Amino acid sequence: MHRSYRVLALLALALALAATACGRTYGVTTPGGERGGTIGLAMPTKSSERWIADGNNMAKQFEALGYKADLQYGDNVVENQVSQIENMITKGDKLLVVAAIDATSLTNVLQQAADANIKVISYDRLIRGSKNVDYYATFDNFKVGVLQGSYIVDKLGLKAGKGPFNIELFAGSPDDNNAGFFFRGAMSVLQPYIDKGRLKVKSGQTKFAQVATLRWDGGLAQSRMDNLLSKAYTTESVDAVLSPYDGISIGILSALKGVGYGSGSKALPIVTGQDAELASVKSILAGEQTQTVYKDTRELAKIAVRMGDAVLTGGKPPVNDTKQYDNGARVVPAYLLQPVSVDKGNYKVLLDTGYYTAAQLR
Ligand code: BGC
Repeated sequence: MHRSYRVLALLALALALAATACGRTYGVTTPGGERGGTIGLAMPTKSSERWIADGNNMAKQFEALGYKADLQYGDNVVENQVSQIENMITKGDKLLVVAAIDATSLTNVLQQAADANIKVISYDRLIRGSKNVDYYATFDNFKVGVLQGSYIVDKLGLKAGKGPFNIELFAGSPDDNNAGFFFRGAMSVLQPYIDKGRLKVKSGQTKFAQVATLRWDGGLAQSRMDNLLSKAYTTESVDAVLSPYDGISIGILSALKGVGYGSGSKALPIVTGQDAELASVKSILAGEQTQTVYKDTRELAKIAVRMGDAVLTGGKPPVNDTKQYDNGARVVPAYLLQPVSVDKGNYKVLLDTGYYTAAQLR
């Protein structure tokens, strides 16, 4: 290349890079639009701490970038969520971030969103059956189950040949796509021991449909556990309970304590969980619940906000999985964060990462 052309080419490159840098810093954007306008955040329920934190974290982060946030909670009622999303579309929100109550009930409303040219990010839970889901921000949900199952295997010493032990299984809400991932992940570890007779499910209930808990309801789980204990455990004890979520774990523990586990010589079984909710972390420290899976919702919110901002400003949304999450209408490009197993031995990770303060855990 002639020297003066080369200088010109370098100058053009430098200008292009500077423009990109400005775009990043000041939100003066290229193919997309300017930052601003309202982001609709449709969360499922306030009955669990995590969703309150997820909603607040995203609202704060979107606002810090110059957007407004329209944060709504559906009270675990599908119709509420559908009408909240309809309102967001009517009000002209620019982007929707949705943690679905029921994975398959949003097809029509998401078609309305697509018709209005509004992009959709599925948050934590995959929305199924709709092609109008643009991105998915979540944790490695299969791995969550693997962590729960492996914890039980390790604590019981099954690899060292101990046992047989009695176990009961619980899964999450059948209308939440994650519940199947968690259960399949856990069973990928537990099933071989059940097949070999090293783990016995005395209730005989091992199918997802038999062990699922509608809307992750801790009360429902408690009454199922009451039933299991009175029918299958009159002469033997239960040694482990696979629980997919802290709210369910607390229900299971109430049922167990109600019939004398945790007092006298009757030890509580291993009880897993998920979300590192405050009540469960305290229960772990008090020697009741055994384990939980910590998913840093601040990080998830960051990913969703980066995705949303990129979608609106013509940037490149973060994606690290383009295979696992087929929602029945398309494979949704996803970003998966890593979950961490937490018990009494390593709970300090929750303090080190600033998820909780020492005072909160007291
Ligand atoms: C989430 C879990 C949560 C559960 C109940 C799932 O979709 O991934 O973190 O425990 O819902 O709220």
